Amino acid sequence: SCPTQPEKTKAQQASNIKNVIAVMSGKGGVGKSSVTSMLAVSLIRQGFKVGILDADITGPSIPRIFGLKDKANMNEVGVIPGETSHGIKVMSLNLMIPNEDDPVIWRGSIITQLVQQFWTDVVWGELDYLLIDLPPGTGDVPITVMQSLPVSGVVIVTSPQQLAGMIVRKAINMVKKYDATLYGLVENMAYVACPQCEEQIEIFGKPHGEEEAAQNEIPYLGQLPIDPVLATMSDLGKIEDYESANFTQIARNLAEVIQK
Ligand code: ADP
Repeated sequence: SCPTQPEKTKAQQASNIKNVIAVMSGKGGVGKSSVTSMLAVSLIRQGFKVGILDADITGPSIPRIFGLKDKANMNEVGVIPGETSHGIKVMSLNLMIPNEDDPVIWRGSIITQLVQQFWTDVVWGELDYLLIDLPPGTGDVPITVMQSLPVSGVVIVTSPQQLAGMIVRKAINMVKKYDATLYGLVENMAYVACPQCEEQIEIFGKPHGEEEAAQNEIPYLGQLPIDPVLATMSDLGKIEDYESANFTQIARNLAEVIQK
């Protein structure tokens, strides 16, 4: 066997993943996990087979957003991921620990090892898309994912309150260093739609996502308003019942970029 090409684990032999998409943000709280989840929901609605690898080990929110309660199981092949009511496969640390409120007090090396095992030891099966919810920033885990997983492209999530784009540019420049494809930028929390008059109130100031995308020569996938319904449905674990025309458009734009 070749030393630079480690042998595939049983779980990898049992899996066939066509596209790996990492979802990245410069900072926390901009809606990266929400966007990852909604992308998964739109893709499965279009008939694709979809999984989410929750690489945000210290702040895992994917199981909660989908209301996943069952723990992951193991068999002789590997770890069997959780499955949402619409059939999205999910692997997250919170599916492995007995109490989801227990903190993760681990060194970086243990965390990055776990993320790699979410790739090598999980029986993902046949997937058209595996979305990776990265932790915010450009630390250990994003580096590990970009280096050791076959990422086909990266989606960047931003919101208008991020320091005039500087932090976003850090994330974009990191992706460029690894020669990964930038699939595009999603601008979350761009405005609030007034429930009475439909006026768009830009509470964080003028959104600059489109400009930011153009400056960095990456596709602009679209913007999402602040929507209390989204926040409530995420808290209830019912994101699969959430409908958003903006989001459908973002998913279409992404599919177009990927097909190019
Ligand atoms: P991140 O992964 O970047 O830390 P999350 O996706 O966890 O961010 O979102 C942070 C919080 O903001 C969550 O409570 C989520 O429900 C809420 N949120 C995210 N996007 C929106 C939105 N467009 N409208 C309303 N609430 C949102």
